Amino acid sequence: MVDHVLALNAGSSSLKFGLYELVENNRPRMRWHGQIERLGDAPRLLAESAGGRSVNQPLTNAHGHGEAIHAFLDMTREYLPDIRIRAIGHRVVHGGTVYSEPVRINDKVLETLSGFIPFAPLHQPYSLAGIRAASDAFPETEQVACFDTAFHRTHPWVNDTFALPQSYFDKGVRRYGFHGLSYDYITEKLKEIAPSLYDGRVVIAHLGNGASMCAVSGGRAVASTMGFSALDGLPMGTRSGQLDPGVVLYMMQQEGMSADEIAEMLYRKSGLLGLSGMSSDMRTLLAAETPEARKAIDYYVFRIRRELGALSAALEGLDALVFTGGIGENSAQIRQRVCEGMRWIGIEMDPNRNADNGTVLSTDFSRVRILAIPTHEEMVIARAAARLVQ
Ligand code: ADP
Repeated sequence: MVDHVLALNAGSSSLKFGLYELVENNRPRMRWHGQIERLGDAPRLLAESAGGRSVNQPLTNAHGHGEAIHAFLDMTREYLPDIRIRAIGHRVVHGGTVYSEPVRINDKVLETLSGFIPFAPLHQPYSLAGIRAASDAFPETEQVACFDTAFHRTHPWVNDTFALPQSYFDKGVRRYGFHGLSYDYITEKLKEIAPSLYDGRVVIAHLGNGASMCAVSGGRAVASTMGFSALDGLPMGTRSGQLDPGVVLYMMQQEGMSADEIAEMLYRKSGLLGLSGMSSDMRTLLAAETPEARKAIDYYVFRIRRELGALSAALEGLDALVFTGGIGENSAQIRQRVCEGMRWIGIEMDPNRNADNGTVLSTDFSRVRILAIPTHEEMVIARAAARLVQ
């Protein structure tokens, strides 16, 4: 039998996964990755193997997360008949202030994680549903939780608090920061490919459907644009990003909107979609010629530039800017617009390198190195799972 670990990322209607073989020193090597989408409706398995095989098929018998995991593993067994799953690692949105590292899951841990549901009511229940489904489907297998908040537990107090009475901080109303698995992956990658930058002051821009930026000094997080919830900071596909709290009061007091209606507005109808009135997808907006699409992109770029300045100030300087996430990894146009006129901070982009989508995008003379590094959150989960079962 060949040892593997499975990394899972459960959403409301999807389950992303990565299956990793444990090679020498328990190092995970990816064999398959993909997702099951439209769970509960018309589930479909989309997967690719490291060897270039791809699968795209309906899963008629997989309605819940647990059945989906079985269906996916049944499919892989056709190609990998002798696998043994040593551990299952889960992406968990919220680890509160309790967890700054991955943890083996037991009843006590599950109870603690359930206590964080009020802090992430739209996301944490799915993380827990994924864990429960995997534990039921594989009762003998070790389950490991990996947290999006954990990487940020090194923020100094000033970057963790709001200017509210202390009692709110004490009950957990503070800046947690998210996308920690992505930032963890990028910092580890920097350590490997550019150790001097790892030791320095780095801003990482994770620009996907969700988006945030993180200031990292010597490999440790100092500040992030995301705060108490995954709504703060940059505008995203459908989320508003930073908002004056007075706007929420206006929606409640003047428009009589309920908490659920405001949540729906801020999480699902705002951001690029709200501004453009057209799409949450950056590729669609870049291809569109409408003034609304242009304005949505203008605001998106403006906010990234503004946060870059703020995070550089928090770091007292800047040595590297790293782009990641679907937009950061692929859109030369957005990267170029973010870096335009940034010489004052030492950023000089090489337009050819940027257009070629390589790793290093800055000129040889740029004081700040600009990099694009594909993120791999499931790998961080797989490494943690492999470490904890060793
Ligand atoms: P998620 O946060 O769901 O993992 P991704 O990291 O895959 O999302 O990012 C999705 C975003 O990346 C979408 O807005 C998509 O349009 C954008 N994107 C992907 N490829 C490109 C590209 N070549 N140019 C511009 N945007 C792109």
